[in-house]
Amino acid sequence: MAAFFTTSIEFLKGVGPQRAALLNKELSISTFADLIQYYPFRYEDRTKFYNITDIQDEMQYVQIKGFIKKKEVIGTGFKKRLVVVVGDQTGEIELVWFQGINWISDKLKPGIEYVVFGKPTRFGSKFNIAHPEVDVALEKNSHTGFLQPVYSIPEKLRVKHFDSKALSKFIQELLKHSSEKIRETLPPSIIVSEHLISKRDALYNIHMPQSQEWLAKAQHRLKFEELFYVQLRLLKMKLLRQSKFGGQIFQNTTLLNKFYKEQLPFTLTDAQKKVIKEIYLDLKSGKQMNRLLQGDVGSGKTIVSFICMLIVLGDGAQCALMAPTEILAQQHFKNLKDFADRMQISISLLTGSTKKSERKLIHENLQNGSLQILVGTHALLEEEVKFHNLGLSIIDEQHRFGVAQRSKLWQKNKNIYPHILVMTATPIPRTLAMTLYGDLEISVIDELPVGRKPIKTIHKYDAHRLHVNQFLRDQLSMGRQIYCVYPLIEESEKLDLKHLMDGYESIVRAFPDVAVGIIHGKMKPEAKRYEMKRFSSGETKIMVATTVIEVGVDVPNASVMVIENAERFGLSQLHQLRGRVGRGAEQSYCILMTDYKLGADSRLRIDTMVRTNNGFEIAETDLKLRGPGDLLGTQQSGVLDLLIADLSKDGKLLQRARERAIDVLEDDPELSKRENEVIRVQVESMRKSTVNWSRIS
Ligand code: ADP
Ligand code: MG
Repeated sequence: MAAFFTTSIEFLKGVGPQRAALLNKELSISTFADLIQYYPFRYEDRTKFYNITDIQDEMQYVQIKGFIKKKEVIGTGFKKRLVVVVGDQTGEIELVWFQGINWISDKLKPGIEYVVFGKPTRFGSKFNIAHPEVDVALEKNSHTGFLQPVYSIPEKLRVKHFDSKALSKFIQELLKHSSEKIRETLPPSIIVSEHLISKRDALYNIHMPQSQEWLAKAQHRLKFEELFYVQLRLLKMKLLRQSKFGGQIFQNTTLLNKFYKEQLPFTLTDAQKKVIKEIYLDLKSGKQMNRLLQGDVGSGKTIVSFICMLIVLGDGAQCALMAPTEILAQQHFKNLKDFADRMQISISLLTGSTKKSERKLIHENLQNGSLQILVGTHALLEEEVKFHNLGLSIIDEQHRFGVAQRSKLWQKNKNIYPHILVMTATPIPRTLAMTLYGDLEISVIDELPVGRKPIKTIHKYDAHRLHVNQFLRDQLSMGRQIYCVYPLIEESEKLDLKHLMDGYESIVRAFPDVAVGIIHGKMKPEAKRYEMKRFSSGETKIMVATTVIEVGVDVPNASVMVIENAERFGLSQLHQLRGRVGRGAEQSYCILMTDYKLGADSRLRIDTMVRTNNGFEIAETDLKLRGPGDLLGTQQSGVLDLLIADLSKDGKLLQRARERAIDVLEDDPELSKRENEVIRVQVESMRKSTVNWSRIS
C-alpha cells in the first residue's frame, strides 16, 4: 500500500516526465502522496450563474454563460492582447488575454455557449475579466461538483496552461485509483473520541466535497491529524531528551540567599517567584533543562535570569547569556554587571567588536574557570570560546537565532550538556509557542512589577504635529527625554533613510535649543555606542532613531516616544518599541503618528495599541492579522509550514491535538502497544518523507 503512494507522479495517467518535472520543480510534488496532499486553498460555488448586468464591483468571482460576439487581437509587443466580447440575454462583457493568445483564440468559436469564470474588474462603466476560465457549456459538465476546489498554482505553471483545473483533473484521476490504498492514519480510539471521519472520506471530500458539511468534516479531520503528528513529534523529542540527557545538579542556594538578603533591590512579583521556582526544580532535577521563559517587556526577566545564574554559580559552574544584537548584549551586560559586582562575581562581554587582547583574556579565564558569567552576541558560538564547565546557557530573543545555533550552545559543554533557558521579550501566542517551542517547557511571567504607571498611548494625525510638538516641549521642560522613531526597512532603505534625516532636521529646527541625537542601523557600532551614551547620560534630550532601539535599550528618563508612520510597523514591533518607555517613575507616553488615510488593518493595529498594553493580547491580534509566517520572520517559519492547519485560526484544535498526543505518549511512550500501531507506522512513514518533519528539529 505504502508503495502506491510513493509512486512517482510521472506514472499517473496523463502526467508523463515533462509535466512531472514541472510539478516537482514548481509545487514540490513528486509522488502520489504529495499530490493527494496538495489541498485546495479555497472552493467555488459553481452552481450559480450571474446575469452580466448583475455584475458588481465587490464581486470576487463571477460565473456567467454566454456566446462569443466578437473576437480581436489588439496592440503589439507586450501590449498585445486578445479581446473577446461575450454576451448573454442581459448584456455584454469583455474577456482579455495577454498570454496564450493564439491557443485561446482557436479554442473559442461562435455559435457555442460557453461558461466563463473569473474576477471582474471595472473600467469606467464597463467590466472586463482578465484570463478567465472558459469552458463549453454542457448540459451536464463532468465534475461540476457542488463546490469546486481551487488549487494555488504559481504563475510559471499557469502560463503553460497548467491551471487549477488541470491539477484537479490529475487529482481526480489519482483518487479514482486510491480508494483501496488509503490507509487510516489515526487509531480508532482517537477517531471515535474526536468524532473524526475516516482518512479516506477526508481525502475524497477535501478534493471533491459532497456538501458544505462534508467539506467541514474533511478539513477538521485533516487539520486535527496534522496538528496531532506535529505535537506528537515535539513531545516525543522532549521525552527522548529527558530520558537521554542528564543535567548537572545545581541546588546550592548559598549565593542566592545572600543576594536575597543583602542585595535584592525590590520585592519580586509572584510571577517572578513562580518562574524562579520552576527553573530551580529543573536545575536540581538531574535532567537537562530546556525551558522557554516568556514575559512582556518590563516584566523583569533580567533579575530572574541573574537569580538562576546564582544557583548555577553556587555549585561552581559557569553561565553564558547570548543576545541577538550588540546593543542588546551590552544592555544585558550592563544590567547583570551591576548585580554581579555587588556579589563579587566575575562577568565579561564578548561581541564582534571586543578587542583582540581582551578577547584573549576572556578565552583564558573561561577555560581556567575564573570567569563566571559570559554575556555576548553569537560571537559566543565561535570555536575558540571554550568553557571550563558551562552549566547554564541563556538565550535571549531566541527567534532571531536559528535552531542550529541553539544546539551549538549545547556543544559548549561536551561532558554534559548545559541547561538551556530561552527568553523571549516578544510575547508569543499560545498556539505558536506550542508549536515553535513545543519541545520545551514553558514558563510565563504574566505580571508586571507593581507601582508602574501604564503607558498612555495616543494616536495623532500628521496634521496635528504642532500640538504634538507643544506637548513634547512641555515634557522636555519637565526634564524628560524623548525618542522619535522612524521606519526603516530594507526594501525602501534609501527613501527611509532620507525620511529619517529629514525628520532629524525638522526636529532640530522645531527644537533649536535642545540637543538632538540620531541613531540608525547603518552607523558603525562605535558611533551607535557614542550616541546611546550621550542619550542615556542625558546629554541629548531627543533621540531620533530607527528600530535599532527596539530591543534592550533602557533609559528610564526617556518617557515619551513618538512613532512616525506608525501604520508601517507591525503590531508586535510597535509594542516592542513602546516598551522602551515606561521604565521610570514618571507617566510615559507613546504617540502614534499617521496620515489621515489608513487601511483597515492599519487602523486595527493602531486601535489595538491605543486600547491595550498587554503584550499577549497584542500578539494574538498580530497573529490573526499577519499569520504565523510573517509574525516570526523567515528563519523559523519553515517549522510552521503546515499543509492545512492554520495556527492563527486553529488554536482550539491544536490544544486538543496536543492533549491527545500527551495522552498517547503518557500511556505508551515507545508507541509499542498494539492499539498505537497505526501511529507508529505513520510516524515511521513521515520520518521517511520530507513533509515538515525534519524541519522541526
Ligand atoms: P524585561 O523583562 O523587559 O527584560 P527588565 O528585566 O529589564 O524587564 O526589568 C524592567 C525594569 O523593572 C528594570 O528596571 C528592573 O530593575 C525592574 N524590575 C524588575 N523586577 C522588578 C520588581 N519585582 N519590582 C520592581 N521593579 C522590578
Ligand atoms: Mg530585558
